[in-house]
Amino acid sequence: MIAPEIHDLDFDGYRKLIAEFTQDELIPAENEMVAAGAVPERLIQRMGELGLFGITIPREYGGLGWSMEQQVLLTFEFTRASCVYRSRFSTVIGLCSQGILDHATDEQRQELLPRMAAGELVTAFALTEEGAGSDAANLTTTAERRGDVYVLNGSKRYITNAAWADAFVVFARTDPNQPGANGVSAFIVDAATPGVTTALPEIMNGHAEAPVGEIHFEDVEVPAANLLGGVEGTGLTMALRGINHARMHVAATCVGQATRILEETTAHVNGREQFGSALSELGAVQATLGESFAEMEAGRALVIESARSFDTGVIPRHRIAAAKLYGSEMASRVADRCVQLLGGEGIVGPHPVPRMWRDVRALRIYEGSSPIHERNLGRAMVKQVSADGTLPNTFRA
Ligand SMILES: Cc1cc2nc3c(=O)[nH]c(=O)nc-3n(C[C@H](O)[C@H](O)[C@H](O)COP(=O)(O)OP(=O)(O)OC[C@H]3O[C@@H](n4cnc5c(N)ncnc54)[C@H](O)[C@@H]3O)c2cc1C
Repeated sequence: MIAPEIHDLDFDGYRKLIAEFTQDELIPAENEMVAAGAVPERLIQRMGELGLFGITIPREYGGLGWSMEQQVLLTFEFTRASCVYRSRFSTVIGLCSQGILDHATDEQRQELLPRMAAGELVTAFALTEEGAGSDAANLTTTAERRGDVYVLNGSKRYITNAAWADAFVVFARTDPNQPGANGVSAFIVDAATPGVTTALPEIMNGHAEAPVGEIHFEDVEVPAANLLGGVEGTGLTMALRGINHARMHVAATCVGQATRILEETTAHVNGREQFGSALSELGAVQATLGESFAEMEAGRALVIESARSFDTGVIPRHRIAAAKLYGSEMASRVADRCVQLLGGEGIVGPHPVPRMWRDVRALRIYEGSSPIHERNLGRAMVKQVSADGTLPNTFRA
């Protein structure tokens, strides 16, 4: 449950609280998390009490209802800690709650959103399959209508929070004769429904303490009322708002991670002496730090500008894609340079930077891989310039 006093805080007070939680509780618990191979349960409880599962959910549904600009400012704070912590609530705040908010019935919203905001109903977003990764519309999980139920069969993989979610938003093909996106619908599925099983991977390279999982559906009966939006064939269109939310949050995560990586690395080069002086006295080291700082701040500015644009009501999907693309590439570049500046400590021992280097690598793969964003942006540019000579989402009058 969100602690009652949290609802009374203004944004500046809340942001300060989350900054303190990050510094005083999340960062100090990182080694404990790594040793246990999981986020400590007490911290998940604290995330719930502090409202982190509810930052995007409107106040009328028990959440905190911060604007997108406020959400990214908060993300800059809590992703100074391991981005694994964010994974625990990421699928609730972005991908799942937004689809439910926009497309579920009033009754479903009243039933689900307050529990999601409180961290009591964890949801996972089940889209990816073995044959449908970048080409998500190629999915083959089926949902066949039989009277008052849909019967789901198929398998999902790489699903964040799959193994401990209470419910899933599942994408399945309702029309086997309709290939591509038009045959796909979205369903709210209780994870305890007979026929649902989950499995965890044996190895994770990065994000090890919040492993993604498989979900298998074998003759799973879902009430027809759980068809999100009530109309077949609109699943992927409905998912777009949640996906754009999640991309904004991932772009902000990249900035948060780069911030911490640069703080830690600058402290290291200040303290490490070679050739009779601190490494930070060397011009080459200063240049690496300065270049990385500039790239991080470019990423931050792009995220904030995209978030402001989002808050005007028209989702600037091309600018969001650019922020996610640039941010994730930037975080990886910065992390790689910083591992270099750490020397052997970047490879041997418990320093947080190499762990974060592994974690940020995944950010270039999920929420649209970098090559997919490059391709989509290039296509959108070509199309719009052909139509009216302008670029997508630009600042021209
Ligand atoms: C940590 C993590 C968390 C995830 N969480 C979720 C989740 O919660 N829910 C969910 O549904 N999915 C989730 N995913 C899955 C993720 O969305 C997919 O991994 C991603 O879409 C890529 O699909 P794929 O892995 O099948 O790679 P593929 O589709 O096989 O692509 C592999 C690579 O090929 C290249 N490529 C592919 N297509 C093109 C193209 N048209 N042009 C140029 N290059 C191309 C890209 O470099 C791409 O990275 C998660 C993945 C990870 C790693």
